[in-house]
Amino acid sequence: MRPDILYPIFRNLTSIQGVGDKNYKLVEKFMGEKVVNFLWHMPSNIIDRTYSPNLLNAKPNRIATLKIKVIEHIAPKTKKMPYKVICTDGVEQITLSFFKIFGNSIARLLPNGETRVISGKIELFNNGWQMSHPDYIVPENQLENIMIFETVYPLTAGISNKVLNKWIKTVLSRTPKFEEWLDEDFVKKEGFPSFNQALIKAHNPQSQSDLLPSNINHKRIAYDEILANQLALALIRQKVKKQKGRVIIGNGSLREQVIKSLPFKLTNAQETVLQEIYQDQASNYRMLRLLQGDVGSGKTITALLVMLNAIETNAQACIMAPTEILAKQHLESITPIAEEIGINIELLTGRTKGKKRTQILENLKDGKIDIIIGTHALFQEEVIFNDLACVIIDEQHRFGVHQRLALSNKGNNADVLVMTATPIPRTLMLTAYGDMEYSIINQVPEGRKPTDTRVMPISKMADVIAALDRKIKTGTRAYWVCPLVEESEKLDLAAAEERFTTLKQHFGDIVGLVHGKMKEKEKDSVMDRFKKGEITILVATTVIEVGVNVPEATIMIIEHAERFGLAQLHQLRGRVKRGFEASTCLLLYGYPLSQTSHSRLNTMKETEDGFIIAEKDLELRGSGEVLGTRQSGFLEYKLADLEVHKDLLLKAATDAKQILETDPELSSKRGQNLKILLYLFERDEVVNTYNA
Ligand code: ADP
Ligand code: MG
Repeated sequence: MRPDILYPIFRNLTSIQGVGDKNYKLVEKFMGEKVVNFLWHMPSNIIDRTYSPNLLNAKPNRIATLKIKVIEHIAPKTKKMPYKVICTDGVEQITLSFFKIFGNSIARLLPNGETRVISGKIELFNNGWQMSHPDYIVPENQLENIMIFETVYPLTAGISNKVLNKWIKTVLSRTPKFEEWLDEDFVKKEGFPSFNQALIKAHNPQSQSDLLPSNINHKRIAYDEILANQLALALIRQKVKKQKGRVIIGNGSLREQVIKSLPFKLTNAQETVLQEIYQDQASNYRMLRLLQGDVGSGKTITALLVMLNAIETNAQACIMAPTEILAKQHLESITPIAEEIGINIELLTGRTKGKKRTQILENLKDGKIDIIIGTHALFQEEVIFNDLACVIIDEQHRFGVHQRLALSNKGNNADVLVMTATPIPRTLMLTAYGDMEYSIINQVPEGRKPTDTRVMPISKMADVIAALDRKIKTGTRAYWVCPLVEESEKLDLAAAEERFTTLKQHFGDIVGLVHGKMKEKEKDSVMDRFKKGEITILVATTVIEVGVNVPEATIMIIEHAERFGLAQLHQLRGRVKRGFEASTCLLLYGYPLSQTSHSRLNTMKETEDGFIIAEKDLELRGSGEVLGTRQSGFLEYKLADLEVHKDLLLKAATDAKQILETDPELSSKRGQNLKILLYLFERDEVVNTYNA
């Protein structure tokens, strides 16, 4: 239940005078249906009316406020001419002109011989001063009616700035006076005003610097919003942690066999992360953990060992991948190991049908399958486990908080490990995954040679093909990635199909094509032939983006690389860094090359560190895009701007943690106030809907 104190600002739009049947839809579209949103709508500019010069040495084209005396009215001779009023500031004359006048309104506003204060833009016209349609004309004793600093808001068509100003003032005046929900010492240290003060000041800027999001008033409100978000995530995490889980402590038999048979030693990072996860599994709480690791850091084997821990206790495990190709990839890489240690694995996707499907579902229910690998199909109701104890979600950055929550309910108090191949900058981690614990594999296996990354214009195509020819003859395989499937008329995109044709003319049958619009079967067959080496040059759209593993492929050519995002480029390059062979990545760019594209390509050339690339990506694109829109719901701030308020995020994360450590139920005085904060920024919903 929303606290009563918030009632006045959570009323419907119709409670504002001037929002009626006619413009309700318009205003709602602009602001949402609750008046509280007006508070978060920050000014974009101010009109400063403090400039008050003598006309003799005034600068033209500025907003000026002048005291003038009316000399004479000149009515227009034709309708098209303006109505003119000649005035003087004592030395210089100024002509006020009006194109639309109603009755004798001007005569009443500006009586001959009287003194008035006017405000508006002064201009020089035929060597004389002029002001057309002054914004204000008031008698000297009514100066207070002039908004010396007029707040300018971003507008939507159909709503004027004057009206919006009035509405926002109304909502501001309704805003209750809140008790401080922040720590008093912290407020002092940061120099923050109170929330109410900050709000009023933010809506009454006095200078350009007052408009910046880095301004102290904005910062205070942004902090409150970020804290509300962090607190909500921390509350969810607290609930997850309280959920009874099961104690999983395998006897190590399967894991020992696997580790012995691996052709390599686990990296220290893999070992560390495994210990963290085993500990979670052993606790009687449910695990909800994010596993981050750069491309090629060895997440798959890590995940397998985690699953085997559960299987050693005779429970089951599953892996969920975002695409069919990836699910199959997992199946293929795990199958040889599974056979060796004698466990049963199966694949279940949307395409598993008929008898096969019935059989799998039955075996799953009877506990005959140890690991099931699949896509979203695993969510279906008919999919029933005998005893699911461990859920691995691969490439999870495509799912949101709510989906994660739904999934953790599928198993029998199952632990959940989410793996993401795209490193996520720390700031975003906190915002998007603050509800999870996380582990990072911060090391790739030793001995990997760096990828030779080169950036060159597409015009060098002939050279590229010649070089590719030489390389292919030495037995290597190559990916050739194009941005789109079909030639678009508007954009000069190199279509994969066209590239396929031209490469085929040069190289013959060793060229294959795979793209998103192909049938699954065709796709599979092409991928298969590439794996077997029947195809050695694979022209592809970004369907190969994630997870595909063909160790013999050491060349990655990306056409129109300037059109890809950094994370995507990094993932694609990761495809050719599977083995220990030296690999090459050619980034071919076309024109025009924007500043951002240029920085992206440079970053790719300079580093292979996924975490650095992720930070850079965030810098270049902003948070919404980095994580994709699908899960933006929880990421959307009304007012805070992570690029500007990054430092606040870290503070808020610590703050939220400490709050719940000392006051897990938010029952203290400060806790009560913080509850109001959660409702104020509408973070209560997520907390309440999470009742797993
Ligand atoms: P990713 O983290 O991108 O999913 P993978 O799990 O697919 O990486 O591993 C990439 C490659 O590295 C695989 O061929 C895997 O067998 C190998 N690998 C994993 N761990 C190690 C290790 N500790 N030392 C050497 N190679 C490893
Ligand atoms: Mg992987």
